[in-house]
Amino acid sequence: MYTVKLELAVAVQSSWQTTRNMEEGEVLRLDGQPIEICSNRVINRVAYHDKLNVILVGTADGNLFVVDPTLGEPVYSTKIGVEEENCEAQWDFSVCPEKLVVIEGSKVGIRSDYNGILLLSSILQTPIASCSDVVQIELSKSEAESLCHSLPTADSVETDVSEVEKQLKAIVVRELEPGTPLILVKREKWSTVKLELPYSVLKSTFQTMVNELWKKNAYIPQLSIASSILERLNMLLPPAKPEQDAPLEKAQMWALPEKMAQAGFYHSPSSNGDDRAMCFTCNVCLVSWEPTDEPWSEHERHSPFCPFVRGEHTHNVPLSLSFATAPAFVVAEKGSSSPILGKSSCPAAVVVAYSNGHIVVWDVAREAKVGLIPSFYT
Ligand SMILES: [Zn+2]
Repeated sequence: MYTVKLELAVAVQSSWQTTRNMEEGEVLRLDGQPIEICSNRVINRVAYHDKLNVILVGTADGNLFVVDPTLGEPVYSTKIGVEEENCEAQWDFSVCPEKLVVIEGSKVGIRSDYNGILLLSSILQTPIASCSDVVQIELSKSEAESLCHSLPTADSVETDVSEVEKQLKAIVVRELEPGTPLILVKREKWSTVKLELPYSVLKSTFQTMVNELWKKNAYIPQLSIASSILERLNMLLPPAKPEQDAPLEKAQMWALPEKMAQAGFYHSPSSNGDDRAMCFTCNVCLVSWEPTDEPWSEHERHSPFCPFVRGEHTHNVPLSLSFATAPAFVVAEKGSSSPILGKSSCPAAVVVAYSNGHIVVWDVAREAKVGLIPSFYT
């Protein structure tokens, strides 16, 4: 009989210990106590997420459980990779750069932590081809609750805002009074809300919300949450291919993503795919970047009263450069129904081998878009 041996790194600083060599089907134990969820399930992978102090437990039925080692109970669970038929999603957690990698078919999803949790149920959302496609945007429960208070009115949005409202308001926010059991507090923290709607509906709703809040000069948390959702939506729908002779490549060379993001800008090209960049806070919109332009000084010059420029609290999270919310990647060479996720001697490199002979090496140490280096060997 085939036996799976699992090893779990033991965290030095905490008081728990875990069975080191679990055989398939054996109950996962913490300090000798079995963990409830794992009974009746075959565990096929265990990893310790040092930064978040949680144990990631994968089961043969495709679920991923997040277990709090101090409480010895799961705080979150999700089914990973259910979209592609005959594809078994696999995941791995590379300890060094603290990224969780999930592969399914031609998709590769990578997650770093998002304010102390992981947005796992949207990890395999890939970029889309059309505005009418349905996309998933995952938010923490507190963000979703906060957005409910600033939703634009139905007549100010081109698309139907009621469905967004319905999905946001479907959440049940628990009252966390002093004395609430810690496990409930943790579960509340890990709860997320997944908006699952056509791209165009989400885009027009949150664009209107940002515009309205900005007009009111309302520097409230909702503004930065809605702005970051817009930024995530922008990453899901790549701009239309520019005209052949448009001087795009040259123009975009000056606007380096990392520098731009540090100065509060995100790329929001118009339909001809130009280098238009917008500030996530004040919505100032700058185009035609020159090689001598410094993003910070341009921002200051064009929008001196922007709260971000003035260093006020804006809840800034430079999301476009983070795996915390980045969309999944699609490996161009399809026909790869049974990829294998492997490890290399370099912890920052994740290796995926496909049945058609391709091996793709992902550099997960750096952040999305800027440093992702897929390499192909056949
Ligand atoms: Zn600004």
